[in-house]
Amino acid sequence: MKNRLRIFYLATEVAPFAKTGGLADVASALPKALFEYGHDVRVMMPKYGTISERRYVLREVIRLKQIPLTMAGEEHVVSIKSAFLPDTKVQVYFLDYKPYFDRPDLYMDGKTGKDYPDNAQRFFLFCKAVLETIKLLHWEPHIIHCNDWQTAMIPWLLRHDYSEDSFFSKTLTILSVHNLAYQGSFDPSILPKLGIPRELKEPGSDLECYNKINFLKAGIVHADVISTVSPTYALEIQNDAELGCGLQGLLKKRCDDMYGLLNGVDYNVWNPENDPYIPQKYSAANLNDKRPAKQALLQQAKLPYDTAVPVVGMISRLVEQKGIELVAEAIDDLVKLPVQLVILGTGDPKYHKLLEKLAKTHAKHVAIFLRFDDELAHLIEAGSDMFLMPSRYEPCGLNQMYSLKYGTIPIVRMTGGLADTVVDYNEDSNHGNGFVFKPYSAAALSDAVKRAVRVFKDEAAWQKMVKRAMKQDFSWHVVADRYIKLYQKLENQKRKK
Ligand code: ADP
Repeated sequence: MKNRLRIFYLATEVAPFAKTGGLADVASALPKALFEYGHDVRVMMPKYGTISERRYVLREVIRLKQIPLTMAGEEHVVSIKSAFLPDTKVQVYFLDYKPYFDRPDLYMDGKTGKDYPDNAQRFFLFCKAVLETIKLLHWEPHIIHCNDWQTAMIPWLLRHDYSEDSFFSKTLTILSVHNLAYQGSFDPSILPKLGIPRELKEPGSDLECYNKINFLKAGIVHADVISTVSPTYALEIQNDAELGCGLQGLLKKRCDDMYGLLNGVDYNVWNPENDPYIPQKYSAANLNDKRPAKQALLQQAKLPYDTAVPVVGMISRLVEQKGIELVAEAIDDLVKLPVQLVILGTGDPKYHKLLEKLAKTHAKHVAIFLRFDDELAHLIEAGSDMFLMPSRYEPCGLNQMYSLKYGTIPIVRMTGGLADTVVDYNEDSNHGNGFVFKPYSAAALSDAVKRAVRVFKDEAAWQKMVKRAMKQDFSWHVVADRYIKLYQKLENQKRKK
């Protein structure tokens, strides 16, 4: 293939190997789609304790065994293993270094609820290992594609430690920011442990941000381009002080190199026509077959089945961002409509308590599942009539796009990727694929759900909207094509320089 690009794609979670949120889905689907377009794409991630070598057939790579890496004068001997993304020929490399990654959790110690205290060392070493692996493979990438703070020190390393290394002279970097609130911000006392000169803690350095050492900032300063996961979020983080999380000034400075590319959906995984986790497969042509999913869901939720009462689903990390407070505040209104609410999530213990209380007080209308459960997530997508995402902010959001495919009408706050994918229903023109509200308030949320319930009662109008929603196409091929164009644009610019 002409213009075949070599792309090294880095992420610290990749589905199905390890997942805490949307990044894992993206880091699996995008490389797959790039590969299908004929590009040479390889992925690298840490080998966590939870990844089964046998299940995923991880193999040793002869020339990537026992690699010595130096950090702060200390030698760490690491090995690289490899496997394929399931059902593909996309090669995934795993950094096998037990002292740092043979742990049950990815970033946060489940036992303490706190970040692992050596996260800076863990992920800085990962960044170093990536560059050494590429060199040992003698595989000169056109593009190194980094994701989030954990890999953001790669562009920094290329401009510092590797600035004279001709091996990388043709390599361009892209940093994708999936959520600006997570920056990898550490006390400056970390610097000697990373082997980075102490002077870099001084204000104005490429690592310093509000007296902390900030990995994401370093990546934003040094990456050739920065992308984020929806056009609206790309603007919000430059213009809204709260969403810019302290980096909006820098992002604005780099606005010419900023791109907002909406994530896509892997329809091999999220599709009611071939979903193995739902009782009956269905499509827009046979919507009656969606009913068994509702019945099965309500049975699991121990709530009564009533075709006249809409089920509202939620699947979410339970963190500040996701608007759980609004649901709690609006609940009295919601159960009166009535609706039934089924919530699957895990995260901050304070939200676990809050939701437990809701489920107890409104046992006839609310069911909660406080765990990570992929299979149940699929059943909720299929079995609900509506899907609620009242996020304070949402860089992209995947579940509203999954919901559209399942004919489960999204009710969302107008922010980030939710604003880019859900169009408010208009009764007069019979237009729209969901319900959108703007103010971050319980009243606005209740109002949107009320509007949804009103349309739900008009079966013909509802079915029309459901069919319209199911027709929408957010497949990765469209998205991957946008990334390829961006990579090629970068390449052309570089050649001209
Ligand atoms: P974020 O990346 O902020 O968590 P996204 O909407 O982009 O939000 O992606 C969330 C992904 O994680 C979706 O695939 C969703 O189904 C999944 N998910 C979140 N919480 C759970 C849970 N408790 N059980 C199963 N899947 C979950």
